[in-house]
Amino acid sequence: MASCKMQMILALCPFVMLVTIPATYGWGTDGHSIICKIAQSRLSNAAADAVKQLLPKWVEDDLAAVCSWADRVKFRYRWSSPLHFINTPEICSYRYSNEDGVADRCVAGAINNYTSQLLTYNSASNEAQYNLTESLLFLSHLMGDVHQPLHVGFAADKGGNTIDVHWYKRKAVLHHVWDTNMIETAEERFYDSNVDSMVDAIQHNITGEWAKEVKRWESCSLNKTACPDIYASEGIKAACDWAYKGVEQKSVLEDDYFLSRLPVVHRRLAQGGVRLAATLNRIFG
Ligand SMILES: [Zn+2]
Repeated sequence: MASCKMQMILALCPFVMLVTIPATYGWGTDGHSIICKIAQSRLSNAAADAVKQLLPKWVEDDLAAVCSWADRVKFRYRWSSPLHFINTPEICSYRYSNEDGVADRCVAGAINNYTSQLLTYNSASNEAQYNLTESLLFLSHLMGDVHQPLHVGFAADKGGNTIDVHWYKRKAVLHHVWDTNMIETAEERFYDSNVDSMVDAIQHNITGEWAKEVKRWESCSLNKTACPDIYASEGIKAACDWAYKGVEQKSVLEDDYFLSRLPVVHRRLAQGGVRLAATLNRIFG
């Protein structure tokens, strides 16, 4: 596995959080489900077939049903907790670094790692090396996490986990607002409390308003199979420009914040789904 030690002005992948961070959960269940539903609808025949073969039989070929599995196994797989995020110093840029051989236990390193494992799908020895079902479930989940802006957030506030706010009248932490509150409020207010309606609206934008951008979202530099560094760089920028902006301890976040940030949530969910599909299509051909 490559390593991802970050320098002073760069994003910090591993250390600090290995010991200090409390559990963080990425998008909530609905956010991850939205991303996996979008992704599964865009798979090539070969990728759709491989995903079907790898998914547990009981989910009946529904990737979204197990898209939050990686959050649920954090306590059993304690080693996996740091794979869900990246911490940065308080600088709004990110760069992955391989220096000093420190293990890359962060979301960018994990996406690369699980992509490499899945590339062995057609080799005779894969069963002996990896559990590719788990690799698929981790990759599908972590591709969502890297698109949640506060999963590439500042180490000092644990990606917004130590910033107490009010989401309208309820107490929350900023991280949770981005994981869950904004999606739930959007579902209640605009989508008849129906997650599938929100998926449909995002799909409509993917094939309409955003169609020209989608090709760029899908592409990966230097013919790589996965490009988490691009997604992480966008993530810290979105965290600075939108998630953290104007927020202090005890801020009350209401319509001004919600309505100006919701387009960012929609776009990041769309990008997560499009890129998960593109990555799986590259992996499985
Ligand atoms: Zn997660």
